Formats: sequence, C-alpha cells, structure tokens
Amino acid sequence: MNRKRRFALLLAGLMALSACQGKVPGSSSSEEAPAQASAQGSQGSQEGPSSSREISPEEMAAKPLSQGDYVEDAEGKKIYQGQGTFFDTFDTVVTLTYFAPDEETFQKYLTYTHDEFLRLHKLYDNYHEYEGLTSVMTVNRLAGQGPVEVDPDLFDILEFSLDHYEASLGKVNIALGPVLSLWHEAREAAGAHEGPGDEDQGSTSGKEVRLPDKSALEEANRHTDLAKLRLDKAARTVAFEDPKMALDLGAVAKGYATEKVAKGLEAMGLKNGLLSAGGNVRLFGYHPQGRPWKVGVEDPKTNDRDQALAAMKMESGSSMVTSGDYQRYFIVDGKRYNHIIDPGTLYPATLYPSVSVVAEDSGLADFLSTTFFLCDKEEAARVLENYKEQGIDLGVIWVDFDNRVTTTDNLAGALEVRD
Ligand code: ADP
Ligand code: MG
Repeated sequence: MNRKRRFALLLAGLMALSACQGKVPGSSSSEEAPAQASAQGSQGSQEGPSSSREISPEEMAAKPLSQGDYVEDAEGKKIYQGQGTFFDTFDTVVTLTYFAPDEETFQKYLTYTHDEFLRLHKLYDNYHEYEGLTSVMTVNRLAGQGPVEVDPDLFDILEFSLDHYEASLGKVNIALGPVLSLWHEAREAAGAHEGPGDEDQGSTSGKEVRLPDKSALEEANRHTDLAKLRLDKAARTVAFEDPKMALDLGAVAKGYATEKVAKGLEAMGLKNGLLSAGGNVRLFGYHPQGRPWKVGVEDPKTNDRDQALAAMKMESGSSMVTSGDYQRYFIVDGKRYNHIIDPGTLYPATLYPSVSVVAEDSGLADFLSTTFFLCDKEEAARVLENYKEQGIDLGVIWVDFDNRVTTTDNLAGALEVRD
C-alpha cells in the first residue's frame, strides 16, 4: 500500500470513528452499517478525507490508533468498547473492536494484536528479510541449498497449506512463487491499482503496462512442484528439492495470522469482539449488547462501505473472508488483470469479481476464498464435498459480474441481499 493511500485511509478511518460517537463500525446491529469483508480493502470509508488533523507517517506507524468508551451490555453492566486500527502489516488496514472489562484490558489486547500481526507479517513476508528472523524470503534464498530451520508459526502455515492442497483441487499452491513474482513485477511496473484512492495509477500513469511473457511464465512454472517442498517436522526445517522453487503465502497468510491472533486473544480472556484484517473478518463470542454480528459483502463495482451488496448474519466465533478482483489489478488493452493466478492457465482468474467464504477457521476461510475464486461451480461442488467428508462446514457467497449474489444453501437464511 503506498503512503498516500495509507494516509487517506487513516484520516478516513478517524472521521468514521468520530462520526460514530462511541458506536463502533463493525459491531453492527441491523440499523448500522455492517463490517466489511472487502477484498484486501479497508473497513474505513473510501471517500477522500477532509479532516484538518495532520498525522505524520511516523506517528501513524509508531503505534495503533485507538478510541473507545464505556457502554452498557445487555444486562446493564458497564463494559469498555474500544476500537483500534493499524496500517503497518500485510499491506492492509487492521481494525479491531473489542469489548473488555476496562480500558487497560482493551489496550493490552490491542498491543498484543499489533505485536503479533507485526511478527507474523515479517515471518510470512516473501519480499523482505529481517534481522534476527527467518522470513519466507530468507527461506526462498536458502532452502535450495539445504534444510532451513524456521519459527513454529512459519512451519505450521506451510504444513497447513500442504494439508489442504488436495482437498482444494490444487488451486492454491504456495510454491507458485516463481509465477506469482512475474505477475507481481508486471503489476508493480504498471503502478497497479490498490483499490479506490489509487485511481490515478495503473494504465493511465504512463508507466510500462504489459503482461508477463508467456514463455517466461511457462519456464517459471517448471519450478512450482509442491512435491519438491520438504518439511521435516521433528527438526522444524524446510528444504527445496528444486533450488529455483519459491514460496508465496499471500493466499493464506493474512487469514492464518488473524486466526492465530484470535486464538491468542481468546487464551488471554477476550470474549467478545471483531477483528478485521483487509478482507478477513473474525468474530469473537456474541455482541454483548444482544445484537447479531453482521458482516457486509462489498459491492465490487463501487467498494462503497455504506452500500454493501449483502449482509451476512454471523455465528459466534466464525470468520468471513473475501477474495476479489477489484482491489489489486492492472489494466492492459482495457482488460483487467487481478492478482489471483490460475495455476492451470498461469493467468489471472476471470470467473467472478468476488467470492467470500464463511468458516470457523479464518486461515481456512482465506485459503479457500482464493480457492473458490479459481473454481467454476462444478469444481466448487467437489471442493465442498471434500470438506463435508472431513466434517467441515463451509459457506460460500459468489458475486457475479452483474452483481447477482448466490450462496451455498446453508447460508441462504442468514444473508440479506440489497434490493
Ligand atoms: P488478498 O491477499 O488480496 O486478500 P487472496 O487471499 O485471495 O487475496 O490472496 C491473493 C494472493 O495469493 C496473491 O497476491 C498472491 O500472493 C497469492 N496467490 C495468487 N494466486 C495464487 C495461487 N493460485 N496459489 C497460491 N497463491 C496464490
Ligand atoms: Mg485467500
């Protein structure tokens, strides 16, 4: 996310907060706007800000912003309802709404959330290396020469991604790195759109806008065989049988981190709240004021958070994750190329503008939102069947290019679609 966009989002977020006067966006009742499960986007308003408060990028990066107030729960007991936001992880905005016994406890949860997101962001980063830590980029540099010991939270996500590879028909391959980096370079060279606010970039920027070379994509794809990824559980090491292999955890990292942090918070005692990281929303417990939690499905055409296409009434402790084509893309000859690559064609998916997955586990919901984004309806039925056999209940929400919304049968009663 570029600095300009981060700054705009920050101010917009602050305005949204002050407009709410203690009501927290995201902890929504039927009268309030639901939290957004946008694809990679923010929960804040997408409008250009007009706030006069100047906040330096340093101040923004230093610590999360927060505000809150004491409110009454359904039994009339006082609780602290706080909201925090930070901008420095996973290239997105993380917003959380927690209900805590007091402000001090809320701040403890917020600090933990920020620290953990930062740590996991670094571990799962395939574009940077960090002092004193083995990131995915470090693994990519070294694992072709022999086993590399990694942090348990990196080892676990690799194992998780391997475990789900077959059930999801091989659509999400964390070893697709060599292919994905060619698309990444093409997007960067084009000054890719990162959603609303970056509309001045992309094909109109005068930068070089071209697709990756087909033969380069095919050559890169020779080094994406997941069977050549060697994990040694006892030694907690990773090795590549093919030295040109490279990992990219983009399809699963944000949701996996969200679930990991959520579990940590639950262990610390957090009972009620909502954690939103870009297109990943994870709920905790119940809304203490007796309302249902609702999460919005963004309109891929407008991205307007006040005009969600549909609102999903969520079960306690569940997650909703969206993959979409409208936040990260570039345009060549009038055609939009998004960031989710079909391993069969080596080109971006073209089936839907947005697909959301509802599941208990936020990591699985993220892995599968990318999977279903790449699956036609017949393939999706097979994936759903595979998970049903494992006793895992999933809900899917598809948006088509005419903004028509369809869902798996199990969600029909919980989804309100805008007229
Ligand atoms: P977002 O990161 O925008 O929330 P997704 O969860 O759908 O969206 O993940 C998209 C990211 O996943 C891409 O930026 C890329 O890093 C990675 N990716 C794209 N296609 C694949 C694929 N077929 N297999 C594995 N990873 C992929
Ligand atoms: Mg995903």
